[in-house]
Amino acid sequence: MKDSIFLREVGLRDGLQLVKTHLSTEIKLAWISEQSKAGFGEIEVTSFVPQKLLPQFSDAEELMVASNNLPNLRASALVLNVKGAIRALECGTKKVTFVLSASEMHNKSNVKCSTDDSLAMFFDILNLVKEKKYNVEIAGAIATSFGCSIQGDVSERRVIDLAGKMLAAGASEIILADTVGYANPMQVKHLFSMLNSIIGKRHVAAHFHDTRGMGLANVVAAIDEGVRRFDSALGGLGGCPFAPGASGNIATEDCAYLLESMGFSTNVDFAKLLLLRKKLSSWLPNEKLEGRLGAARPAINFPTELISPLI
Ligand code: ZN
Repeated sequence: MKDSIFLREVGLRDGLQLVKTHLSTEIKLAWISEQSKAGFGEIEVTSFVPQKLLPQFSDAEELMVASNNLPNLRASALVLNVKGAIRALECGTKKVTFVLSASEMHNKSNVKCSTDDSLAMFFDILNLVKEKKYNVEIAGAIATSFGCSIQGDVSERRVIDLAGKMLAAGASEIILADTVGYANPMQVKHLFSMLNSIIGKRHVAAHFHDTRGMGLANVVAAIDEGVRRFDSALGGLGGCPFAPGASGNIATEDCAYLLESMGFSTNVDFAKLLLLRKKLSSWLPNEKLEGRLGAARPAINFPTELISPLI
């Protein structure tokens, strides 16, 4: 039997947060629904952040409620503080990903407080969940785990220390994120092997950006260390606020193709996914989508079921 790898789509959150075109709730729902039908069991559909900061996510509650009505889908959301978590919990979110940054300077510029203050908020959220008996999974994501564009190097010990504290408090999953695309495969192997020693039975996931073209190489390195859960964005949406024109998250379609071609099972229906990618480019006419598979033309050993939407 094939070894399975789980892909979580983050294009609607990580991808859209820098996009100028504001997609309507209706279009976002169409995206979510079609991607779910293409085999995706979890989609990060939004972020509970202040409306004036990121108006793209002003429909967070409405979108979450509607996504929860779709069959066979776990809709998750990102939060950065207790206020955002309360909004997510009150509208019935089933999985909340709390993000803090291993880089003190990145955390300060992103959420205006120290990393330890963010960690304290994470504990407060878990206490709230226990107290009010919410039926929710709380994941912990560590941004800038592999380096920071403001601070530079990030200590591996600090990343593992934060992961350990989040796990001890009850995090269901730890996601190591290469927020600015600084990671290289050797570094990825080293940090995930360190994480493996403390992760226990809970999930570990990787979130890579392709800012410097290292994204898929980093995926392969993480697989070598046993990682079986990856974040990715359709069409490689994402970008970086500190590097205009830079490419974004690893492209979902390319990552799925890499995994399938390596013999892993992803549950992805490529025909449906590539049709959706075409729709995405029509919904976002001013965005340049990344990813090679979307531009590929029929090749000798390219399975025909994968190319039909391209012709
Ligand atoms: Zn990201």
